[in-house]
Amino acid sequence: MGENVLITGASTGIGKAIAAKYLENGFNVIINYAHDDDLASETFAELVRKYDAFGRLFCIKADVSDSKQVERLFYEAREVFGEIQVLINNAGIAQDKLFTDITDDDWNEMIGTNLTGCFNCCREAIPYMVRVKYGRIVNVSSMWGIVGASMEVHYSAAKAGVIGLTKALAKELGPSGITVNCVAPGAIDTRMNACYSEDEIAAICDETPLGRLGKPSEIADAVYFLTSSDFTTGQVLSPNGGFVI
Ligand code: NAD
Repeated sequence: MGENVLITGASTGIGKAIAAKYLENGFNVIINYAHDDDLASETFAELVRKYDAFGRLFCIKADVSDSKQVERLFYEAREVFGEIQVLINNAGIAQDKLFTDITDDDWNEMIGTNLTGCFNCCREAIPYMVRVKYGRIVNVSSMWGIVGASMEVHYSAAKAGVIGLTKALAKELGPSGITVNCVAPGAIDTRMNACYSEDEIAAICDETPLGRLGKPSEIADAVYFLTSSDFTTGQVLSPNGGFVI
């Protein structure tokens, strides 16, 4: 297919599954990550081996909350594959805290990674997409961005912001042939939920009509669908096992 896709926060979890999906479908893939070099190298080696992706997969470290690092990320990505046609803003962090315990740093890091990161990457990707009148963007929100979560006010606010950004950008970029959509996953089996005890995970599963956590690959399928569809834009697709209907 020959298209280039950049996926933020793809050294593990949902981002890694999204990278696998695009490699499987013949894309050139850039995976971005923020901190853990060893984990990123392991993932890179695993994906190259599994999808015979030597020369089709690159890995670039950058903190998406920092606009200068994002500028460099896109510069390096273009040096490798040329322009990016598909952008998946997946990088995110979560934190459980009472609202009254949230510090300035907690708030700024949460909004910086989950929402400003999305803004920074869109700003780098869009000028080329407008020039060629083609582009596909998917932003990863959360079901908590739709309905709000107790003890996760800053996370919910950031993810609701991602939904607002998606809808407004879809309207602005539609005339340029660019689609902008959002996935808002339910509870998915990744490192992000490793902080919960077995009992807490069981309680989440009990509250989920389908009775289990989602798999990262199930979110990757939803993301892939959204970038494959030419007439879907400004939408929020929420694979959540029925938790939020
Ligand atoms: P994860 O913790 O397994 O992976 C997060 C990824 O983001 C890692 O690759 C990490 O390096 C990267 N990252 C973190 N901060 C970054 C930064 N500042 N710059 C660049 N990369 C950064 O998490 P996950 O569960 O795979 O979550 C992926 C996305 O899905 C997040 O946006 C998350 O909010 C969202 N989400 C997850 C769940 C869930 O239950 N796991 C539910 C709803 C939404």
